[in-house]
Formats: sequence, C-alpha cells, structure tokens
Amino acid sequence: MLRIYDTRARQVEEIAAGRALRMYVCGPTVYRYAHVGNLRTYLLSDLTRRVLERRRTRMLVCQNITDVGHLADDGGEDKVLAQARAEGRSVAELARFYEDAFVRDTAALNLRPPEHMPRASEHIDLMIELIAKLVEQGNAYTVPDGSVYFDVRTFPTYGEISGNRLDSLKPAHRIDAVDPRKRFHADWALWKPGTGELSWDAPWGQGFPGWHVECSAMSLRFLGSRFELHTGGIDLRFPHHEDERAQSDAAAGHEVVRHWVHGEHLLFDGRKMAKSTGNVVLLSDVTSAGLDPLAVRMAFLEHRYRQQMNLTWDTLRAADRTVRRWRTRVAEWSESPSAPMALDYVKRVEAAFDDDLDTPSALRVLRELERDDGVAPGAKFETFLHVDQVLGLDLSTDIGKARVLPAGAGELLEARARAREAEDWTAADRLRDELAEMGVRVSDTAEGQSWQ
Ligand SMILES: [Zn+2]
Repeated sequence: MLRIYDTRARQVEEIAAGRALRMYVCGPTVYRYAHVGNLRTYLLSDLTRRVLERRRTRMLVCQNITDVGHLADDGGEDKVLAQARAEGRSVAELARFYEDAFVRDTAALNLRPPEHMPRASEHIDLMIELIAKLVEQGNAYTVPDGSVYFDVRTFPTYGEISGNRLDSLKPAHRIDAVDPRKRFHADWALWKPGTGELSWDAPWGQGFPGWHVECSAMSLRFLGSRFELHTGGIDLRFPHHEDERAQSDAAAGHEVVRHWVHGEHLLFDGRKMAKSTGNVVLLSDVTSAGLDPLAVRMAFLEHRYRQQMNLTWDTLRAADRTVRRWRTRVAEWSESPSAPMALDYVKRVEAAFDDDLDTPSALRVLRELERDDGVAPGAKFETFLHVDQVLGLDLSTDIGKARVLPAGAGELLEARARAREAEDWTAADRLRDELAEMGVRVSDTAEGQSWQ
C-alpha cells in the first residue's frame, strides 16, 4: 500500500486505494513558461499516479488551467492581461500559447496527461453557481461595489492544513488588511468587479472570479464532493489551499479532500527559482545544453518530493549520464538469454516507492542491481524495464539500436586486442585511455574485450 505524507494530518498516512482513486492537481497559470521548479510539483502527482496504477487502481486526475483571476489580489492588474498586452497578443492567444508549451514540457518529462484539464475561463458558470450557494448559505457576502467575499469566521476549522489558524493571523501580515469592504481581515474575494476582455456577468455585477474559487468549483464538478488526493506545491498551502478547503467544505457540508499532499521547493544554484531575480531554468534551456529532458526527471528522482533540493548544471549532467548509461545497459542486457525478474530487488524498489515515494532509495537499489554480478543480465533487463513503468525514464529506447563506433576507434580496439595477446599491458592501458577519450569504454571479460 502506498503511504504518503498528509500535510493536514502531519503524518505519513496509508492511501486506501480501491478500484478507483481521484486526484486534483493545482495546474499552471498560463501567462509564461513553466520553469523546472514548477514542473517538479507535477512529477509528484505523476509518481503517485504511476505507483497506484501499478496495482491496477484506475486513476482519475483533474488538473486545471488557470487562465483568469490569478494573482490580482494585490489590487494590481491581472498578470494574464498585463502579459498579453506586453506580448501584443489577445488574452486567449497568450493563454493557449503557454498552455501548449506546458503540455509539451510535461510530455517531454513523461508526465501522464490528466483525464480532465479544464480551463478556468470556460467554467465561469460553475464558479458563479458555487459563489451563489455560499452567499445563500451565509458563508459569503456581497458588497456594494460588486465584490463577493468569503466570510472566513463561518468556517471554524480554517487553517488546519498550514497551521495558520484565524486567531494567529495578524492583519498586518496581509496586504489588504485594511480593506474596509471586508467584515474580517482574513476574508478573501470570491468575485471581483471588473470590465474588459476577462470579465463575465454575474448576479453581483460584471467581473471575474478569484483564483481560489476556481479550484473549488472545478474539483467539485470533475471529481465530485469527496475525493482522495489533492496535490500542489508547498507554497500553495496558504492561503490557496486553506481557502479552497473552506469554500469546498462549506459548500459540500463535509470534508471534501481526504489527503493534502505537497511538493517542496526547488532551488537552483542554491537560490530560489524566480523570474524576478533571473534565476530561472526552463526545460528548453536543458535540452539546448544537449541534455536529455529526462535528465531533469532523473535529477528530481534523486530526491524525495518533500525534500527541498538544489539543482545545478552539474547534477543535471550527472543525471543525464546515468540515464544514458542505463539505456545502454538495458540494450546490452536485452541481447542476453531471457530470465525472470530479480524479485528480491523488485520488492525492495517497490517498498521504497510505497514508503512515501522514496525514489532516492529506489535508485540506490537499482545501482546495486546494476553492479551485482550474481544476477543474470536477462534478469537485470526485466527488472529495469519493470521498474521503469514508475521511473518513466524511457530506459528501453536504445534496444535494437546499432552500436556505432566513432571513426578510428575500430583500429584502436584491434590494436588493443593484439597488445593484450602479446601481454603488453602498458600499451593496452594506453589504448584503453585513448578510447575513453573518444567516448568508448572498454572492459575486459572472459570472452575478450567488449566496449560501450
Ligand atoms: Zn488550486
């Protein structure tokens, strides 16, 4: 059984997986490219999905596309609108452009696509319906300018995910603390007045929904009023997920989400990845540097999802070498007689996956298997391919590919074979070093020398 850290329960809990399991993932805001730090969060949901699917659990995943309403809380202009103007595109063009880029990046990282990927702008009616219900129940109130606020004091368990309970939230910590339209400083907008390209008619006046209410409305619509898992980046715990939980639970009349799961931050070169400081790496930067996109996935797997990790170009290059080496090995092993999987290794890897997605331990077990001369190559082949269903590193891509020696390497290999026959070990070592410089690794076996 998969056990995973539940942020609200503050402990690792077993995921009771039946035949089907539903998961909501807070999706991207599509007004710029997702950087690799953003993409790490989506690997968390992909791993969860793959580990559960291995047990034949049918996964139903909903991951929204935020193309309206995000990050306008500070009273400034919606970032989608501002960026569209800066790029000279319409809002719709801008949002589709970055949505397409996001889908391409996630595909390159082998992240399985969600079953539902609703765009916020196409589900405004659901949000209006939810807001109307909250107003009717007394969980939300309208103000004369056309805004609607959630009345947080009607939801006493607010703060259970992040620990930010209402009595400890100080008005000074909130930018809009002194907003006279609010009954209480921690209330937030469900609907904001506005006109123009990103606005809709609502019973309270023309405007657009707040970001938090988008996720409540779409998760309730696509997954129902009870679902098992909700994932997102650690920075979404507060206020986004607290607000989402309050809205959804108030509307449903019970706890909607069984487990809240969060992925930790990614640092790059020791610093937070942020556009404002120029410390941003995109997947296209990685591939432009000649690295496989799945080197990023490999680098992430070397750390557990809830561990803060520091990515560097060195760790990316090391991860790239490991991925390529494993693909070569798998291709070599594929030529050996078939053999059943190395079950003791499989069990240890799967136990690591189940133990709160302990991918670093799983990779250590695989490195041990790679070196274990007591396991037949055919068994290594079967085991690596089996485990790759969760790792998602495309370890079988090199199978059947012709191995091509660089120019001149064939002559050096022949010369080295002759040197070994003549027992001229100095020459053999020198030739091995020369070959290594060309990228050809020579090893000596009982049947003579072989190369990679
Ligand atoms: Zn969300």
